[in-house]
Amino acid sequence: MDHFQYKDGRLSAEDVPLSDIAEAVGTPFYCYSTATLERHYHAFAEAFRKIPVTICYAVKANPNISVVRTLADLGAGADVVSGGELKRALTAGVDPARIVFSGIGKTRDELAQALDARILQVNVESEPELEALSEVAVSKGTEVAVAVRVNPDIDAGTHEKITTGKRENKFGIEWTRAHEVYARAAKMPGIRIEGAAVHIGSQILDLTPFRTAYLRLRDLAAMLRADGHDIKRLDLGGGLGISYEGELAPSPSDYAAVVGDVFGGHDYDLVIEPGRAIAGNAGVLVSRVTYIKEGATRRFVILDAAMNDLMRPSLYGARHAIEPVVEPVTGEMAEDADMLEQIDLVDVVGPICETGDTFTRGVRMPPVAAGDLMVIRTAGAYGAAMASLYNSRSLVPEVMVRGNRFSVVRERIDTDDILTHESLPIWIEDS
Ligand SMILES: *Cc1c(COP(=O)(O)O)cnc(C)c1O
Repeated sequence: MDHFQYKDGRLSAEDVPLSDIAEAVGTPFYCYSTATLERHYHAFAEAFRKIPVTICYAVKANPNISVVRTLADLGAGADVVSGGELKRALTAGVDPARIVFSGIGKTRDELAQALDARILQVNVESEPELEALSEVAVSKGTEVAVAVRVNPDIDAGTHEKITTGKRENKFGIEWTRAHEVYARAAKMPGIRIEGAAVHIGSQILDLTPFRTAYLRLRDLAAMLRADGHDIKRLDLGGGLGISYEGELAPSPSDYAAVVGDVFGGHDYDLVIEPGRAIAGNAGVLVSRVTYIKEGATRRFVILDAAMNDLMRPSLYGARHAIEPVVEPVTGEMAEDADMLEQIDLVDVVGPICETGDTFTRGVRMPPVAAGDLMVIRTAGAYGAAMASLYNSRSLVPEVMVRGNRFSVVRERIDTDDILTHESLPIWIEDS
């Protein structure tokens, strides 16, 4: 459920018509709903009442500080994967004692940043990283709490680009080697072993892989305890999938039931790291139709938004529901069916010089015309976060709504802004 509904015939974010925002900031723009973010956070918090967890929101899903702050105000911690995200989490006011730092390539500078901030734990993904972290901690005369991320060798059944828990993936340490790696870590100065972590992928719609991974993690933790390690915290990662086009997605309470089955009656502190499940349906990308083009075999709806603004369709073949902002008249769809059959279904595309710049193909759509506002749904996660400047386009504005108010939470960053950071090489400049 989200708070983007038609009100008086106009698609609104909570109580604000998206057309009003378009008027104020231009298109395209991202729009986030506070009520939806809160609703999703509460759904997790409620679901995990019986089996308490620390909810560390995965900042990479949507790193805008207004999003992170909204969640932090509800008690969320943060899962960060770079020094930049750590800075964002701290800027947004996340309690450092609720921040975990994941990622396979943390530099010494980033590790030092984490130590200075006194975060909850660093999730270490390799032995060289353990050594680097040990050195950084020793150089600062301190100790750091560590969880080793293990790779449970499980197929999450999701898109290959977002599967992370298989043996051949670059993430974590092979779980069969954990015994050995923990033994080494225990001897390293500056390292204080506190836990173990897994994260098997993203947009996972079937709970079975979670269950399998968590059982494996539970067995491993028991073995590590038997080895004498003080395993007090288990980080279960993120990855719960959501509905983009009506797919059946497990709810946070379905997910909590699995966690309860596996870890109920055990004394571990648990951490979960949902990103998409919190932010995905809390955001939309609003765009205007630039042209309708009658192609040789199909009709193209050309938007002013493109793959640089929302990369998921071109990167993962992902599909997002796309709808007009002005509510289609009831029956319009049906009446138009004959016409649609003759003219083919539409492809919704962006203006970028790549065939991959296609949001969706062969969809049935109520009649739309140049100038119409369209909404691309479920764009709150991995949308603005992954945007680029390709084709010298802008980073589009991000707007947050709460009730009947809206606020620009990131201004448009356009070519003028970027050009202030570019310069000619001195040999041209001097000539
Ligand atoms: C990306 C990521 C997450 C969040 O994944 P979602 O699918 O957005 O829930 C959580 N933990 C780690 C380590 C990640 O890399």
